[in-house]
Amino acid sequence: MLKELIIASHNQGKIKEFRDMLSPFGVKVYSALELSLPDVEETGTTFKENAALKAETLSSLSGKPCLADDSGLCVNALGGRPGVYSARYAPNRNFDIAMSNLIDELKQSGNPDWSAYFSCVLAIKEPGVPTRFYEGRIDGHIIANRRGDHGFGFDPIFVPQGFDQTFAEMSQQEKSGISHRGKAVAAFLQKEFNAKTF
Ligand code: IMP
Repeated sequence: MLKELIIASHNQGKIKEFRDMLSPFGVKVYSALELSLPDVEETGTTFKENAALKAETLSSLSGKPCLADDSGLCVNALGGRPGVYSARYAPNRNFDIAMSNLIDELKQSGNPDWSAYFSCVLAIKEPGVPTRFYEGRIDGHIIANRRGDHGFGFDPIFVPQGFDQTFAEMSQQEKSGISHRGKAVAAFLQKEFNAKTF
């Protein structure tokens, strides 16, 4: 059973979410950042390709089990963009600008349908074992005026289906109970730890 995992990310928001979700199961979580491992460039064209690339590269560099996720926001009126390119949609990782640009794009599209979804693919690579994958998705819609200050990325403008609050207005636990990443992690924990989570 996995006792320790390196999270193949330099994104502090994401690492915190993983640490909170995995530590109750006795998994010691390290980030690529604290082990001075590189932030692997996402050269794939799908979430799955990028997740595999990150987990496999860092597992091979460290000789340890690595978990990577690739995730993004897919906006229907924008043909699924920014999708796999969500991180790069933010100039210098500035999500104030990214959110403003996304709202501008939606307004300019003239499409009243602001539905969107977050998608997440997790890849686990242990040395000598084929890569395993888990997926999660949450549907919802984009709002023009951001609300809330929790979370990261596009959280202040995403309202999940069936809720009134944005992701950024939810506690970490509430968000993880329904989010794309939470669902992918739940599938991972169920399969690999036989654990019922959320
Ligand atoms: P990557 O998976 O490191 O390529 O980054 C995914 C990008 O998608 C992030 O930088 C955010 O822009 C966006 N994203 C993914 N998951 C979330 C989330 O839970 N909340 C808000 N934004 C997210």
